[in-house]
Amino acid sequence: MSTNEEIASLYSQYVMNTYVPGITLVKGKGCQVTDSAGTNYLDFTGGIAVQATGHCHPKVVEAIQNQAQTLIHCSNLFYNPSHCLLAKKLSELGLGGKAFLCNSGAEANEAAIKLARLWGHESGRYEIIAMRNSFHGRTLATLAATGQSKVQKGYDPLPVGFRFAEFNDLESVRALVGEKTVAVMLEPVQGEGGVLPATEEFLQGVRALCDEKNLLLICDEVQSGMGRTGKWFAWQHYGIRPDIFTLAKALGGGLPIGAMLASRKLSDVFTPGAHGSTFGGNPLATTAALAQFRVIEEEGLVENAADMGEKFRVGLQTFVEKYDDLLEVRGKGLLVGLVVKGSAKEFVNAFRDQYLLCCGAGEHVVRFLPPLPVTEKDLEDCLEYMSYAFDEMYGEDE
Ligand SMILES: *Cc1c(COP(=O)(O)O)cnc(C)c1O
Repeated sequence: MSTNEEIASLYSQYVMNTYVPGITLVKGKGCQVTDSAGTNYLDFTGGIAVQATGHCHPKVVEAIQNQAQTLIHCSNLFYNPSHCLLAKKLSELGLGGKAFLCNSGAEANEAAIKLARLWGHESGRYEIIAMRNSFHGRTLATLAATGQSKVQKGYDPLPVGFRFAEFNDLESVRALVGEKTVAVMLEPVQGEGGVLPATEEFLQGVRALCDEKNLLLICDEVQSGMGRTGKWFAWQHYGIRPDIFTLAKALGGGLPIGAMLASRKLSDVFTPGAHGSTFGGNPLATTAALAQFRVIEEEGLVENAADMGEKFRVGLQTFVEKYDDLLEVRGKGLLVGLVVKGSAKEFVNAFRDQYLLCCGAGEHVVRFLPPLPVTEKDLEDCLEYMSYAFDEMYGEDE
């Protein structure tokens, strides 16, 4: 039971039809993954921005192994050390307040929405202004906050209390602020929506607007956090501080974990019973996250993401100059998008045929999310594989 066909057949019989995988992966090491036929690929999907330290980093693996034979789970009816130590680390790097730990990005955003509503409750405020083309998750509330009708279709009625402004258009946000508004929620770099960074004027303007109107600024850093953009958190590029931000994807070295971090003024809004999670702060996941932080710091991976991201974008730009179907390179650090004419999926498939894995972001953007320890050699390989794909697509002499 190991060929790709056999696995694909099991998948189609028994796994609900929410994704369309093409190949079976069985192994990973650093920036490389191996499929069921033994073929190696350069993985610039990174588990969708999850494998910040690369696949199976030995120090993350060791921490997980040790914890797995010590205590895997104990629930929040009891303290566990790594839960508290991770919350401390996140507080020190972030906003100086407290953390709520959970298990995914959607849950972290759900917690942020609940915290904002609870904070606004006494003054009768609950409305959150989110952005068109955003992505905040698949639970009903986070779906309601997601400004893309294609993922909302068929699930109505969705929770009320969300309104949509145009990303990077401050006046469109201002126009929606009313007496029920409690928060503005956005991704500093829109990920799924097409790898689109906020402009400085916009994010700083939203911060000032929130201060003026006593609104909370919620930054969704589920994809952009943990060093990916060349800073620990993407909001740090903008000289502003949110009131709440969320993390998930890269936080746990591959284990499912999410976090909602808030500034000190929000530390005591949740009281016992107001929110919860059976697995939140789980010893195994939080131990993995602490190991992930140590590796990122010891290996200087935040700086590497900034350096390599810059080099990578310069390399991609040469293709944009060469081929009419490639329109623009954008992003921050190692959250990189290549805007194409036509369907991103076609490019993703063409690159996969040359043993390079990446993914789409929206219809027209090819997204690259390499592990943060990516080297210049990996980038050269990536660009070389891409050039083979372009040769196939456009002929060698164009
Ligand atoms: C992936 C993602 C989410 C959802 O995270 P899940 O772990 O899949 O629930 C939310 N926000 C952003 C910005 C994301 O990229």
